[in-house]
Amino acid sequence: MKILKFGGTSMGSVESLKNVASIIEANFRNQTPQVVVCSAMGGVTDTLLEIETLAEKGEVEEALNILEEVKEKHLKVAAYFGIEKDFHAETDTSWEDLKSFTRGLCMIHEVSDRSLAFLLSFGEKLSTRLLAEILKSRGMPARQFDSTFIKTQDENYAESEIDWKKTKKNVQEVLSPYIKEREIPVVTGFFGTNTKNIISLFGRGGSDFTGAILAVCLNNPTYEVWTDVDGFLNADPKIVKNARIIPEIGFEEASELCFFGAKILHPNTIRPVIEAGGNVYIRNTFNPQLSGTKISKSIAKSCPSVQAITSKKVVLLLFDIFASPKKKRQIFAELFSLAYERNACIDAIAASEESISFCVEEKYLKNGIFLRGLKKIAPLRITHDRQIICIVATVEIRGKVGAGSSFLGAISDAGVNIEMYSQPSSEITQLAVVEAKDAKKAILSVHGKMMGECLV
Ligand code: ASP
Ligand code: MG
Repeated sequence: MKILKFGGTSMGSVESLKNVASIIEANFRNQTPQVVVCSAMGGVTDTLLEIETLAEKGEVEEALNILEEVKEKHLKVAAYFGIEKDFHAETDTSWEDLKSFTRGLCMIHEVSDRSLAFLLSFGEKLSTRLLAEILKSRGMPARQFDSTFIKTQDENYAESEIDWKKTKKNVQEVLSPYIKEREIPVVTGFFGTNTKNIISLFGRGGSDFTGAILAVCLNNPTYEVWTDVDGFLNADPKIVKNARIIPEIGFEEASELCFFGAKILHPNTIRPVIEAGGNVYIRNTFNPQLSGTKISKSIAKSCPSVQAITSKKVVLLLFDIFASPKKKRQIFAELFSLAYERNACIDAIAASEESISFCVEEKYLKNGIFLRGLKKIAPLRITHDRQIICIVATVEIRGKVGAGSSFLGAISDAGVNIEMYSQPSSEITQLAVVEAKDAKKAILSVHGKMMGECLV
């Protein structure tokens, strides 16, 4: 059995949906049971998000226009496939619900996380209904499901935690009978429901995680994530001309890559599937003949080497402990609890007796509450326009001497100053923070000196 997840670009146009249908059809013809998970059509989640701003200003007409735009986008595709009637029958009440809900939001000028989760879930509710009808029109026994049977355990509506036990029971009860009958479930990505049955999201890009949840709960080892790139690349092709696809990668390395800038997968996706004994494959909907990247538990490599270089734009922050009357351990405690409360992610951290420096993405500082909270902890220095450069090596690097000096040496050979450096004791990643304007030079030098070389 296979779990297939199709992202927004795969769901985004007539052309891409034809490819999606053919990929599913190929499995159907060779009798491979499959469960399909879909994102919203490309751009729809972002468009629905615009309603949030309009509703807060009470601009009801504009907000309803946005709904019309989303509706048109789906109906146009439905018309092409000749399934308007069936799609309309499936979604008629959804549009009405969505309109009344939007009017309500505009009336009270407020969109809570809980309301937003409900609103955004329509992207996936619509795209799955569309795909299920397309598949049926091609003679496949598809059946649409809203993923309300995936259970979450908290009241975080934007990035909720999953309740694995309840979810596993529900997934097997709801989906297994249909899979046994060779039907093809087409399931909404991105959300589940909490203990009060309220829709809760898994964060942006969360449909990848939905696929992982189904793979684990159906004891299924093969999870294919169909996207718009050929697989994991060993560097950003916009910077490094001869960047290459990585055909196979261990899961620890792949997880690090997802975290630091390779925006291919939602970072929570890989671990649960691998721990359940499965593999994750990255495949390209627009190039289905390629085998993509396989992510497995580990890959045996005799020679420790750098697998990939990634980078990510960040803000570098520094607490001056010397100037603060507070104790260092108190600063650490306050920093981490504030980041936790504000759902802000700290990307890298380095500390000494005098200072603690760390990086976050700019988006977290736009939220004034987080920044104000940071300023209350200790004297804070903020440096914008910085870039984390991160290398991910194979796990064989552990315990070997010299990788650090190669990395730092390659950056200094490029004449670039390193403002912060860290290497977690997992040893497979190292990261350096440099001025964003120097990042390209540094990446090219690291790529030229380290990529593919045996590091001992
Ligand atoms: N549609 C959601 C988003 O754009 C979830 C996903 O595509 O994975 O973030
Ligand atoms: Mg995605």
